Amino acid sequence: MYEKEKQQVLDTALKLDRYGLVALSGGNVSARMEDGLVLVTPSGMIYDDMVADDVLVVDMDGSVVEGERKPSVDTEALLYILRKMPKVNAVIHTHQPYATGLGLVMDEIPCNLSTMANAVEGPCRVADYGDPGSLSMGVQAVEAIGDQLAVVLKHHGVIAVGRDMRQALFSCVYLEEAAKTVSVALSTGLPMAEMTDAEVAEAVAVFHRYGQHTLDEQDAEAAAAAASAE
Ligand SMILES: [Zn+2]
Repeated sequence: MYEKEKQQVLDTALKLDRYGLVALSGGNVSARMEDGLVLVTPSGMIYDDMVADDVLVVDMDGSVVEGERKPSVDTEALLYILRKMPKVNAVIHTHQPYATGLGLVMDEIPCNLSTMANAVEGPCRVADYGDPGSLSMGVQAVEAIGDQLAVVLKHHGVIAVGRDMRQALFSCVYLEEAAKTVSVALSTGLPMAEMTDAEVAEAVAVFHRYGQHTLDEQDAEAAAAAASAE
């Protein structure tokens, strides 16, 4: 089941590696299907060595519905995030070094780049530490993320979410690009320029109109589908 979607999960994991957000088997990718089942990458497998069938199908209790592998050790935390965030259908967990590094010296990565506004939809908060592989990692992430699309897990990595895999992927990749830029700015020791709330709001809005199948169009389609179902 879900052959195409499993391949998309694997392709996303390979992109995380390509963009330097994970190394070897770090992090994980998960996606909620329309029937409520969840696809999740296996525990401890190097993405380059994986095939689509290594991606597990689990139910919301974490029981394996399909697959021979052991699911990610973070599955309990990932399912908690999906349960608490009903509009989210994709969760990406990375160990991306720049955003995670900034999380060691600040409580929030400021939103002072249009890329950051585009992808995270605001500043990126830093969640309190929760043990990797435990439920507390998910609890801390949900508590800190608010309406944003990404959160830094202190001493650990990043959780990025999206209504679909593309949005979650853009969030963590662009967060890392922004974190690199902020790191360069910080390294000068000079005062950092800030964006106004209006500039951030406009940069968020632009990204909703951006691309070939925009978020605004997806919203309109969802509204039309809901109206016709009533
Ligand atoms: Zn991790």
